[in-house]
Amino acid sequence: MKLGASYFGNRILRHVKEDMGKMVRDGCNFVVHTMSEHDVAYHSRNMVDIVTVSRELGLEVFLDPWGVGRVFGGESFSTFVKQFPDSRQRLSFTEGDIKVNKACLNAKPFRDAMLKWIELAAHTGAEGVFWDEPHLYYGELSDLFGKKKIVWGCTCRTCEALFRDCYGYEMPREFTEEVKAFRQNTIVDFIGFLSEASAKQGLRNSICVLPMPEPKYGLYQWEKIAQIENIDIFGSDPYWFCYEKEVEDFVGRISQEVVRLCERYQKEPQIWIQAFRVPQGRESEVSTAIGTAFDSGVKNMATWCFDAGACMSYISSDRPEIVWDTVSKKYQALQTGSA
Ligand SMILES: [Zn+2]
Repeated sequence: MKLGASYFGNRILRHVKEDMGKMVRDGCNFVVHTMSEHDVAYHSRNMVDIVTVSRELGLEVFLDPWGVGRVFGGESFSTFVKQFPDSRQRLSFTEGDIKVNKACLNAKPFRDAMLKWIELAAHTGAEGVFWDEPHLYYGELSDLFGKKKIVWGCTCRTCEALFRDCYGYEMPREFTEEVKAFRQNTIVDFIGFLSEASAKQGLRNSICVLPMPEPKYGLYQWEKIAQIENIDIFGSDPYWFCYEKEVEDFVGRISQEVVRLCERYQKEPQIWIQAFRVPQGRESEVSTAIGTAFDSGVKNMATWCFDAGACMSYISSDRPEIVWDTVSKKYQALQTGSA
């Protein structure tokens, strides 16, 4: 049984040590530490110490490129998009050249920056890396004439050239079937590139895909990600409060699909549990979610995040102490087999 949580918001080693000790007592045996662009620039040695102390306490450690390039999940700013404005995603506007502050997954400078990130991840001594919610820009506008207009990325020169090579004609600006497939292939290729580089450095690769397999989220055929050779752990994050879904149904459906694909491609299934933005009075649903994933055959569960978001008001639960206590009780029950 693998039970863990993500951790962020603190780079003071003695406090990290105290929290990691608490996580162990609360039933965790792994932790996902965030490692943002800010961390790479200003906390590289702290990250080594944080990973070391976590491992000494018995936790397996994964590192998460939190908000790096603004193309992974995470409440973190990107400096890359300012330093490399030409490597940002260009949108499908015909009325002008609009770029957003998200890195293009095909841009060489961004891939080079990710290789540096992987190098530091390996240097810390972490067991693995966690590719969280890789995505491309997608937006919908209501047109003057009442029609919905879909705006998507990326239409930069690099992506245009790749599309032309692949399909033999110029990249359209409409959200066509080929565009959907090209965007998905872009993410699959990006993850293939990252996971190969990480595996070469001895890191395990885990990935979390958004729980909606639809073209607008980029990936709509999870199979293409699950079958990537160097992916060890494949999962999703059915955050039922965010998507306003019923907990058992949503977590159950996503968990079963993740387990099905993992059995097919010999990967380890992982499900993320929502312990942030938990409304007052609904804390017990977190326990239900963990139980539902477990009953679906998932033996690797991760909670976002330690302390239920108390350190970040933007995502905090209404009553974080109660939420984390709920996670802890359920984890301990699973660890002792009394759940
Ligand atoms: Zn591009």
